[in-house]
Amino acid sequence: MAGAYAIVSGASIAGLSAALWLRRAGWDVTVLERAPRFRDGGQNVDVRGIARDVLDRAGLTERVRALNTTETATVMIGDRGPIGELPSDGPDGPTAEFEILRGDLAGAIRDLLPPEVTVRFGESVSAVHDGGRRVVTTSTDELRGDLLVIAEGVRSSTRDLVFADDVVTRVPMGIDMVFGTIPRTADDDDRWRWYITHGGRQAHLRPDPHGTTRALLSCTAEDDLVGADRDRLLALLRRRFGDVGWAAPRILAGFADTDDLYVDRLEQIRMSTWRRDRVVCLGDAAWCVTPLGGGGASLALTAGYVLAAFVPPGADDDTVRRGLADAERWLRPVVDEVQSVDPRVLRLAYPRSRAALAVTRLAVRAVTRTPLSRLVAGAGEVVPTDRDLPEFTARR
Ligand SMILES: Cc1cc2nc3c(=O)[nH]c(=O)nc-3n(C[C@H](O)[C@H](O)[C@H](O)COP(=O)(O)OP(=O)(O)OC[C@H]3O[C@@H](n4cnc5c(N)ncnc54)[C@H](O)[C@@H]3O)c2cc1C
Repeated sequence: MAGAYAIVSGASIAGLSAALWLRRAGWDVTVLERAPRFRDGGQNVDVRGIARDVLDRAGLTERVRALNTTETATVMIGDRGPIGELPSDGPDGPTAEFEILRGDLAGAIRDLLPPEVTVRFGESVSAVHDGGRRVVTTSTDELRGDLLVIAEGVRSSTRDLVFADDVVTRVPMGIDMVFGTIPRTADDDDRWRWYITHGGRQAHLRPDPHGTTRALLSCTAEDDLVGADRDRLLALLRRRFGDVGWAAPRILAGFADTDDLYVDRLEQIRMSTWRRDRVVCLGDAAWCVTPLGGGGASLALTAGYVLAAFVPPGADDDTVRRGLADAERWLRPVVDEVQSVDPRVLRLAYPRSRAALAVTRLAVRAVTRTPLSRLVAGAGEVVPTDRDLPEFTARR
């Protein structure tokens, strides 16, 4: 088919979902990934709301179920043990039906790609011309395409190349997160255990299906964690978390021995538009919600389907522009809703003083031990299920 060549930049959840659905819609697809090989790291994400429908249509439901992290509930921990528990409550409860590691989800989508979809590792976009029709890559190749999909995550360089500064707004959330995999011990159970303490610090332990435990240290952004080399990162974490109780010493020791640390200074991305000519941004590159909003993986998965449903292969410029506008119109309300994080909730979650911590723990007890827990359970429904996915015409 003439005029049906799509270049997707970024081989994670948004890019691989776009590649899968564009291919099924009849596009020829090449994926560029900056990393030298497939990135299978990453911690717990979930698939919620209408993204479950996308999983189903992709034929991925059973595969993702089999890769489930086995988590069953969320427990809030105080200095003397658990202070409240949010059980799993329906498919979109605090513990979703589909809890999965980021790398496992990306790998499951990748495994569905037919061999005609090429993934070029160690390669990225260095210039974009003619509204996305000519793409120069770092291997100095020039690719001629009809659609360029930028799915490069929150720090996307191609987004910054194509879209002017006044289109892209970065909203710092003031929170750092350091994720890592540590050895599982006999005490680890199938619940997400979440400890909050004063000084704006949190420690988390979560189960995984690989016989290890996923740990997270999170804190208000006061140190230069992002960009620090490994030794400095570990030293900064020891300084910040050295006096924290519960599992913090074990996590610090585990981080010193793991090679999959993932550090993030949380920043939301807000773009006044996600499209320009034949170029579109998807996933965290376009609307990073951060783990505070949740739903990033669900949105990334859904966006690939929605894009392919609205933008037909072989279309003229006007039809492509209209398709991209329709896809944006469909996705925009869902993204806007997920991006609104109440600053009061942030202050509660990262209390500075011991007095503020006491208020947080009171709030946790109120939320977990009263009918309020049902309300919190309902708040997990990002990417709501009360709307239908757009029609999709498979051509392959
Ligand atoms: C290795 C890794 C680990 C992660 N771990 C966690 C975690 O533990 N917890 C959590 O909540 N979220 C994590 N995330 C983020 C999470 O995956 C996303 O929030 C969400 O799934 C949306 O995915 P995305 O595809 O839009 O972006 P991402 O998952 O961020 O993927 C972007 C992809 O684009 C590639 N890329 C970046 N720049 C370029 C470029 N210029 N050219 C070509 N390719 C490029 C990246 O290597 C990556 O493969 C992780 C992401 C990655 C890449």
